[in-house]
Amino acid sequence: MYDVIIAGASFAGLAVASQLNGYRVLLLDRKPLGTGQTSACGTTFPLIEYWGLQDAVLQIHDRLILHTPGAAFSFPSPYPWCTFDYEVLCNSMYDRTSVDFIETTVKGVDGNRVMTSRGSYKGKFIIDATGWRGALSTGVKREEPRAPMGLNFGMECMLPTAQVSGIDRSALHFWYDREILPGGVGWAFPRDGVVSVGVGSYGRSRALHEPISRMTGRLGGKPTGVHGTYFPYRLSDPIVENVFTVGDAAGMCIALTGEGIRPAMFFGEACGRIIRRGLENGLTLDECLGEYSDFVRSRRKFFNVFTAAQVILTRLPVRVVEWIAGTLSQERWRPWLFETYWGLTDPWEIGPA
Ligand SMILES: Cc1cc2nc3c(=O)[nH]c(=O)nc-3n(C[C@H](O)[C@H](O)[C@H](O)COP(=O)(O)OP(=O)(O)OC[C@H]3O[C@@H](n4cnc5c(N)ncnc54)[C@H](O)[C@@H]3O)c2cc1C
Repeated sequence: MYDVIIAGASFAGLAVASQLNGYRVLLLDRKPLGTGQTSACGTTFPLIEYWGLQDAVLQIHDRLILHTPGAAFSFPSPYPWCTFDYEVLCNSMYDRTSVDFIETTVKGVDGNRVMTSRGSYKGKFIIDATGWRGALSTGVKREEPRAPMGLNFGMECMLPTAQVSGIDRSALHFWYDREILPGGVGWAFPRDGVVSVGVGSYGRSRALHEPISRMTGRLGGKPTGVHGTYFPYRLSDPIVENVFTVGDAAGMCIALTGEGIRPAMFFGEACGRIIRRGLENGLTLDECLGEYSDFVRSRRKFFNVFTAAQVILTRLPVRVVEWIAGTLSQERWRPWLFETYWGLTDPWEIGPA
């Protein structure tokens, strides 16, 4: 019997594991550690500093630039952003834990037993951190249906930096341009020798091969190694019966911006601490589930604002979006914008370990 079983060894799962040293913890993933990258691996540098993961950083960026059909809006950021190496980051996080890792596909959960392709394992606390599929939580039978999370779809490829022209390589770039993708966004994140280029549709449209060709065409390259997956835009229930859900499995990706790494690590750390306190102090499973659920729900309104912004902004005429971007990029509004955005999931707010 394990104290904790964590399904999914990416941002959310590793953040949970980081808080549980000294306990019997089993970490399960269908892929070898650090090989299942789904994201462009762009985030805020203070997050990386908070976790002491600077060894994974590939490049630091001091501004975000939003390109629209008629203009480019520069947002110099009060805190730096960065791109990082996914494999290095996952391995660094894993090396600090004392978990047992098994490469296996999880299939579902039955009470305190997690079913996998290699047999079943029992755990007192069970965590679903398997990304948008929610491999453990979606199969759980419950009386009330789970709140739907809503899914966007993204596709991405890498271009050698030498092929890319026309962008400032010290910034993270976004495009809101219906000529590239109606109802979606494009991005280009320079990262040490390559540029990670992608498009994301606000909605489930998977027809992104042409938009990504248009996006890479603009930058002067040809897409190769294209891969894609869903990313959520609405928070779902953080607990499903006896299962804690964290990261994309709980819809914790911020709508509109598609930023999911920081929330996955934030809620993962909080979840791990609640469980550790539960183990230390002999709290019941229900008490820990309740505490975690309350913690996530206390932040629901922030997520709802971004879900609403995604729905509304994508319906507005481009001129109006340009006016909003122009206003927010002014010195008067920028500090407020960045501080508010950072405050959505500020790791220092979780409190002492
Ligand atoms: C194209 C694209 C680009 C993105 N770029 C960024 C970005 O630059 N910055 C940002 O902040 N966010 C970005 N996101 C969002 C971000 O990728 C996610 O929000 C983040 O990865 C969520 O972390 P997670 O740990 O919850 O899930 P994931 O990172 O998806 O990890 C889930 C883990 O579970 C494992 N797993 C899945 N199913 C099973 C199973 N049945 N059995 C065992 N293991 C399983 C997977 O192998 C994986 O290791 C992007 C998303 C997309 C689609």
